[in-house]
Amino acid sequence: MSKTLLKNGHFYGLPNVRAVSCENGKIASLSPNLKNDFDAIIDLQDGWVYPGFTDGHMHLSGLGWSLEILDLVGTKDKRSILKILKSSLEKVDKDTWIQGRGWDQNDWEEQIYPTARDLDKVSPNHPVVLRRIDGHALWANTKAMQLAGLEANIKNLDGGKIIRDEKGKPTGIFIDNAMDLITGAIPKASEKDILRYTKKAQTLLNSLGVTSVHDAGTSKKDIKAYQDLLDKNELSVRIYAMLNDIREDYEFYLENGPVFDKPFLNIRALKVYMDGALGSRGAALLEPYSDAPNESGFIFMSDTALSNIVKKFNNLGFQVNTHGIGDRAIRQILNAYEISGFSKMRNRIEHAQIVHPLDLPRFKPLGVIPAMQATHCTSDMPWADERLGKERLTRAYPWQSFSKLGLAIPGGSDAPVEYPDPLAGIYSAITRQDKTGWPKGGWQAQERLSLEQAIQSYTTWPAYASFEENVKGKIEVGYYADFTVLGQALSTENPKLILETKVTHTIVNGKIVYRAHD
Ligand SMILES: [Zn+2]
Repeated sequence: MSKTLLKNGHFYGLPNVRAVSCENGKIASLSPNLKNDFDAIIDLQDGWVYPGFTDGHMHLSGLGWSLEILDLVGTKDKRSILKILKSSLEKVDKDTWIQGRGWDQNDWEEQIYPTARDLDKVSPNHPVVLRRIDGHALWANTKAMQLAGLEANIKNLDGGKIIRDEKGKPTGIFIDNAMDLITGAIPKASEKDILRYTKKAQTLLNSLGVTSVHDAGTSKKDIKAYQDLLDKNELSVRIYAMLNDIREDYEFYLENGPVFDKPFLNIRALKVYMDGALGSRGAALLEPYSDAPNESGFIFMSDTALSNIVKKFNNLGFQVNTHGIGDRAIRQILNAYEISGFSKMRNRIEHAQIVHPLDLPRFKPLGVIPAMQATHCTSDMPWADERLGKERLTRAYPWQSFSKLGLAIPGGSDAPVEYPDPLAGIYSAITRQDKTGWPKGGWQAQERLSLEQAIQSYTTWPAYASFEENVKGKIEVGYYADFTVLGQALSTENPKLILETKVTHTIVNGKIVYRAHD
């Protein structure tokens, strides 16, 4: 029995509570006798204690991977990217693959896709692969295309696009499924690599106050790494895994059934993709893109194909979580869930960004959960107007509309697409503004969440979305002793202060996993 006392805290929603005791990783009392014997006492120094924050959609080992490759987030032009690339080459052998992530041509002055030739000037010998910020497009150099065995007359493929020059030759930009043509040639991460990525990711997450994650696309190798850490008592975030829709990754669980009611690692969901992303015009829309009238995105599978998957997995007790961004994709996913899903399986639509008004009311009766990431909205809003056109904007990122229908909306970061800071997510959710406060009043402000709702989107709502509402998301007796402790209370008075709020302690299973330096 391990007994811990947390004292001198202000506990969220519990004005009369100043101390909480925990036993064996769970909350034991909200009015503990301070004179009792405890194995450990944590002085919260007047901190503001929230239920541990859950990131309801992110990529755990992918986040760790992103911490090791070239960070191109925030680069404002091609030149600055080439500069970062050039300095990185000095340290690595020829033929080593150079990977990077985070460019966004929508943020550049000249908003056109770059080419392989741009990269060749700096890196003729090292294969280079740089992913777009959303991970749905890739920029490769000639060396990488050569190593991938790509021929000039390569055919197009379903659910993807190869950008070509006037002569039909690939320019070096590959979108959605076409990315596989290049990534297939990159040496695979080893088990050791994935273990290291996971450790790096959880350390960062704990420092940001994250105590649980929903891992949106888990491989067999990922699970091995998570299990290894768990066996050594080194796992410091709780994981809800959504298995990749790849036979090798889900086969074992399909045969043996889902893993649930475990404190640290539950495996009871499947992650499927229906379309691409908005930034690379891969999101499947009912009407063409306003700024590209010949394009309306990609659909990766038919309603029938998805409904067969849903049937198979729901029947065996697995939730199905389908990536759907555009209104056409979302409609197809709802169709598939309607045909063969069970509402008790709480099937989810990941992102659910552009929702047709006729489809909004379908979510609740089908028991479908929209998993939304507030910072996607605030990152996309500078160019979303052009992509979608005026009329469709009012149905973009409809958080409040969903909430009014009584739906739980798990929030998250989709890290490494966005930085996994829950406070940035809460700020975006309540303001629909960027960090400078633009646009005034908030973008499509009618869809903002209240502060209480935004906190729910990191606590009780993701708990519901992972079937853990009886153990996660609340400070109540019997719930996991997971807490995010902040230096000040979250308040709407000056939302920008939320961004400056310090995480002072992160507590998982009754133990401190992160503590700020004073
Ligand atoms: Zn994702």
